[in-house]
Amino acid sequence: MLVLGIESSCDETGVAIYDTERGLIGNQLHTQIAMHAQYGGVVPELASRDHIHRLVPLTRACLDEAHVDLQDLDAIAYTQGPGLGGALLTGTSFANALAFANDKPVIPVHHLEGHLLSPMLAEDKPEFPFVALLVSGGHTQIMAVTGVGKYELLGESIDDAAGEAFDKTGKLLGLPYPGGAKLSQLAKLGVAGRFEFPRPMLHSHDLNMSFSGLKTAVLTAVNKVKEAHGTVDEQTRNDICLGFQDAVVDVLSRKVQDALKQTGFNSLVVAGGVGANWKLRERLNQLKVRVFFPPLSLCTDNGAMIAFAGAMHLQDARAVGAFDVKPRWPLIATR
Ligand code: ATP
Ligand code: MG
Ligand code: FE
Repeated sequence: MLVLGIESSCDETGVAIYDTERGLIGNQLHTQIAMHAQYGGVVPELASRDHIHRLVPLTRACLDEAHVDLQDLDAIAYTQGPGLGGALLTGTSFANALAFANDKPVIPVHHLEGHLLSPMLAEDKPEFPFVALLVSGGHTQIMAVTGVGKYELLGESIDDAAGEAFDKTGKLLGLPYPGGAKLSQLAKLGVAGRFEFPRPMLHSHDLNMSFSGLKTAVLTAVNKVKEAHGTVDEQTRNDICLGFQDAVVDVLSRKVQDALKQTGFNSLVVAGGVGANWKLRERLNQLKVRVFFPPLSLCTDNGAMIAFAGAMHLQDARAVGAFDVKPRWPLIATR
């Protein structure tokens, strides 16, 4: 069975084809990072307009790459939410129009389920059940996953998502948008122990987390350095990056260990953009459980995870009818 997947929830346009026999056979992506960088963040209207320009050529390129004809497809999956309303509408309208014109069924996909299942696109795939750490730009959640569609929320950030904290901290350190990846590169050059930041909610006796205070702690440290020296030199900035990253990674790794203990599961899946972080990977790989990450290129938004999640929900495929998007849409109700 062949499923075309379309992602347009934020600032990446992704189109991919997943074959249930052969795996991923086409994967095209355009990131708008350069376009939004000059504004220091995603400008929703620009994002929507750019998706409109990209969807047709990317779909053509994806079909060519996979040597597949539109008629060969069994279903068209698309991200229905959560995300930016206008951006979601572009992919949703395109997917439904394409399906209607070619008499194919559609499968609306939850973006976070896409992230959550993306490690199954790696060579070394996890098996159910597993604990999932979903760490992206908009979400930080720990889940117990016992099957496709069987997700239980064990804990989550009560304020900023980890990726958001990385980006905001990057911004206040003067790094270009999006600051997360850049901050983690600079952390490699940092000296350990010079800056100790708080580990919020480390001992909260639940699996919830908080990252917004950490950003304030970094701001306070930056201000102190500026007061004393007038400026933050490169080495100091790198040391702050390392201190910040260590604090986030400490909290994530502690909470994940607690979740593994609580569930008794011995597999861990890490998904979402922050899953690309080298320190988090290093730390979690030391745990005495099997740890699965998506391929690096599939950590951030992409069409492949939507095509894959769509393929896992082929039984939910439906004829094109009225469609809507769900900009706010929890994957599972909060406990
Ligand atoms: P969501 O999926 O919750 O709607 P999103 O789609 O914006 O949010 P992703 O695309 O999964 O999130 O991930 C983007 C986030 O990952 C950004 O916040 C980015 O800074 C962060 N990120 C990417 N690479 C790294 C890295 N190496 N270290 C830390 N953070 C990173
Ligand atoms: Mg993005
Ligand atoms: Fe995402």
